[in-house]
Amino acid sequence: MKSLFLVSGGLDSTSGMYRFKHVEYDCLHVNYGQRAYMEQSKFVKLHCRRLGKRLIEVDLKEMGKMFRRNEVFQLHEPIRHRNAVLLPLAIVYASEKGYSSVYVFTVSEECKYESNKPQVLNLMRRLADTLNTRLVFPFLGFSKALVLKVGISHGMNPFETYSCILGHKTHCGKCSQCEARKLAFQEARIPDKTRYLS
Ligand SMILES: [Zn+2]
Repeated sequence: MKSLFLVSGGLDSTSGMYRFKHVEYDCLHVNYGQRAYMEQSKFVKLHCRRLGKRLIEVDLKEMGKMFRRNEVFQLHEPIRHRNAVLLPLAIVYASEKGYSSVYVFTVSEECKYESNKPQVLNLMRRLADTLNTRLVFPFLGFSKALVLKVGISHGMNPFETYSCILGHKTHCGKCSQCEARKLAFQEARIPDKTRYLS
C-alpha cells in the first residue's frame, strides 16, 4: 500500500523524499496561507517530477487569512500550532483514501519553536491508530545537519530547497528558518551555496 508524505520543499521533507524514494508514496503540500508557499511549491513540483511521485496540492489559504484577521502584526506563518491543523488533515485523507501511513519529516530542533509539540505529535499518533493508518516521523531526534547529509547521500541537491519564512525568491538569511539552514550546513561541514540577502 502507498504512503502519503507531507512535504514543504524545505531541507527536511525534501531529504525525506530522496531518502525514501524507493517507498511507494504520493506527496501532500498544503497552502495554509504561509508567505513562502509559492517558493515552496516550485521545489515540491521539481522533486515530484524528478522522482516520479504524484503531487496533491491543497489550497487552504483562506484558513491562513482567518488566523491573521485583526492581527496588527502579521506573522509570516499564520498558524503557530500548524501541526495540530495539518497532521489531522493528512491522517484523515490517508485513512479515507487507503494510504497505509503518513510520513512527516520533522526534526528535533523544531521542538524549541513549538513548546508542546511532543504532546501534539503523540496525540496525532493516537489519531492515526484510531483511523487505521500509521504516522511515521523518520527524522524525529535527528539534527538538521544529519538530515542534510542523509538527503545529499541519497541524491538531493540541497540548493533546490527553500527554507525562508519570508517567501522572497532569495533567502533572507536572517529569519529563524534561514538561521537553522545556515547552521545545518556549518555543522555538516558542507559549503553553503545558498544565496542569502544578508
Ligand atoms: Zn529567511
